[in-house]
Amino acid sequence: MRSLEGDYTVVSPGRVNLIGGHTDYTHGHVMPLATDLHTRLEATPSDDVAVSSNAVETSYSFPTDDLEPADDWVDYVKGSYAVLQEEGHDPGGFHGEFTTTLPVGSGLSSSASLELAVMAFLNEAYDLGLSRKRMAVLSQRVENDYVGVSCGIMDQFAVALGQAGHALAIDTETPGFEPVPFPDGVEILVFHTGVSRELVDSAYNQRRETVERALEKLGVESSKAVTADDLDGLPPLERERLGYLVRENARVQKAKTALEAGDIETFGDVLLDAHRDIADHYEASSGELDFVVEAAVDAGADGARLTGAGWGGAAIAVVDSDEADSIATSVEAAYREQFPEHEPHHYRVEASDGVRVTRNG
Ligand code: ADP
Ligand code: MG
Repeated sequence: MRSLEGDYTVVSPGRVNLIGGHTDYTHGHVMPLATDLHTRLEATPSDDVAVSSNAVETSYSFPTDDLEPADDWVDYVKGSYAVLQEEGHDPGGFHGEFTTTLPVGSGLSSSASLELAVMAFLNEAYDLGLSRKRMAVLSQRVENDYVGVSCGIMDQFAVALGQAGHALAIDTETPGFEPVPFPDGVEILVFHTGVSRELVDSAYNQRRETVERALEKLGVESSKAVTADDLDGLPPLERERLGYLVRENARVQKAKTALEAGDIETFGDVLLDAHRDIADHYEASSGELDFVVEAAVDAGADGARLTGAGWGGAAIAVVDSDEADSIATSVEAAYREQFPEHEPHHYRVEASDGVRVTRNG
């Protein structure tokens, strides 16, 4: 399946968010890790841009001064040029082929993986001198301003700054990050429900509006600045939603401390608590996700929760590596029995390094 080698090979991970659900757009705490599932780009510098991907049927070519959006995946590539040009850079083109082991559009951030594959390649091949953090910030702009998806900084930070064997504790306000060692012998199992996230855009935007309105009333920018007492004066729905975010920020800190201590039992408990809270008070779960989470814990996982935005998509479970396959098999069997109409699949994920570029030959 692998194509010819380009002058450069880029390996760009996806990410799994361990905890910190919906906290990023209120400048809260999150803790993802970069996955070994990744996008690969084989690229050779050229005058214009010509790209294709094994994940889609369309290929595109365009000169670097024609960045009219195509309303298709190539906008993640065009957007990278647009943002770099806004910043005064003028990288040349490339001929590139993307292949991916990431499920696309499933909450494992194939989009940030794609953006950063392009950004990191251009940075290396055209000597742009961008730091990893800067590449993350610019890639978020690609997604926000060019593609038009209002995501926070978490995905791009994880993909750019991930470290093998570590999660990343990210304060999305500063934004700053700290690697947190992920214990040996423990793994993340990602379980995709086979349900696409259809309601996600409208529900996501509603949640966002509600909590942003609440923060504005309280006169603060970050959910980290809100205390339980502050919530009392808010209307019920705002109190409910923001209350969840306040507790979730605290849980990220607790989960980080537990990981640092190698205390997987507490880490797992915090994840499970987070899942139940996001289901009950942020209403971002689904029957399928709840089922997977409870089935994983019943099968022996240390903890589990939905990952990504919710409303379908995937859940994660924290498991001992030597039990990963048996837990996955048992969850999948129970799930198929309960939801015969869905086609679930799972992935074992290892914490990996952020995007990396190799010059070939
Ligand atoms: P996620 O980031 O969770 O996978 P998104 O909806 O944010 O989901 O991004 C998915 C979109 O990113 C796809 O619809 C496609 O436009 C683009 N994309 C990601 N990876 C690839 C790829 N390897 N090839 C082509 N398009 C891709
Ligand atoms: Mg995405």
